[in-house]
Amino acid sequence: QTVVNKIAAGEIIVRPANAVKEMMENSLDAGSTDIIITIKNGGLDLIQIQDNGCGIRKDDLPIACERFTTSKINSFEDLTSLSSFGFRGEALSSISYIAKVKITTRTADAVCAFQMEYGLGQPLGLGKLCAGNVGTIITVENFFYNNPVRKSILSSPTEEYVRLAEFVTKYAVRYPNVGFTLKKFGQHVADIRTPPSSSTLENCKLLFGNTITRELVLVEGETDKYHCKVAGYVSNPNFSIKKITFLLFINGRSVDCNKLKRSLELIYAAHLPKNGFPFIYLSLELPPGLIDVNIHPTKAEVYFRFEEEIISFIVTLVQSKIMASQT
Ligand code: ADP
Ligand code: MG
Repeated sequence: QTVVNKIAAGEIIVRPANAVKEMMENSLDAGSTDIIITIKNGGLDLIQIQDNGCGIRKDDLPIACERFTTSKINSFEDLTSLSSFGFRGEALSSISYIAKVKITTRTADAVCAFQMEYGLGQPLGLGKLCAGNVGTIITVENFFYNNPVRKSILSSPTEEYVRLAEFVTKYAVRYPNVGFTLKKFGQHVADIRTPPSSSTLENCKLLFGNTITRELVLVEGETDKYHCKVAGYVSNPNFSIKKITFLLFINGRSVDCNKLKRSLELIYAAHLPKNGFPFIYLSLELPPGLIDVNIHPTKAEVYFRFEEEIISFIVTLVQSKIMASQT
């Protein structure tokens, strides 16, 4: 059982950036409005994520890192919508199989916080009472300490940091009502700091600069047929950047969809210089039933039904918005 879980864990959490993404999503699910992430050595030595969400009840803490344990399924409908992004109750468990995990958490009705450490999906010891605010602090130390092969194929700490910072940036754009902070351990000045109750455009200014943000065009629309809602910002075709920036969310989760990315790039190809690329941020809401639920958790690439139709709807919508911005 342990071996199976360990192998599964290594497939779900392949690098620090995956762990950061999973834990940010948990903090968002817990209703947090402030998420502070501290990183040491590209996440290899330490990932700490502190939130002000609902916390985990003391009684639930011993099973928090057990595989397939989740507090998020209440009905079949929940099941289909949650499973659309891979896995239920596997993230924390997987992380505990490849690193040392410590959770300090307090719910609103508890008089103090409770802390527990984990290894291989199990609590180490009985945990202890401690001081703490309402919310959760999770520390992940010694990434891949028990898997030198996996560790050796990671990039440099600097590169791993860049990858996890990209996720924090994406979520800060998508969730402007939540404050995000990303900093290196021991550093006073944060590398990313967005205020809570901001807006997507304000956060784009902070994260990508004024120059790009001035060129962004609002995209909004909805298909009647597939109940697909689209919202976002794309750069106008008179403006280009050196590398494509493509931020895609489906039902609130950051995903990749190369087919959509390539189709959107094509709209710009006619307008932009050879080495010029667009900025595209889109957030889609799709009925969970349209998303392929059998997708493997590590694959951020998403597939959905009526893909051709939905992609062509999005392409037409983006095209019309950028054309309108030209006049
Ligand atoms: P899932 O998100 O699929 O439920 P996870 O392994 O990511 O599974 O998390 C397991 C459980 O731990 C969650 O269902 C939730 O109850 C709890 N949890 C994890 N992180 C947090 C957090 N930051 N705040 C509150 N609860 C959390
Ligand atoms: Mg989760």
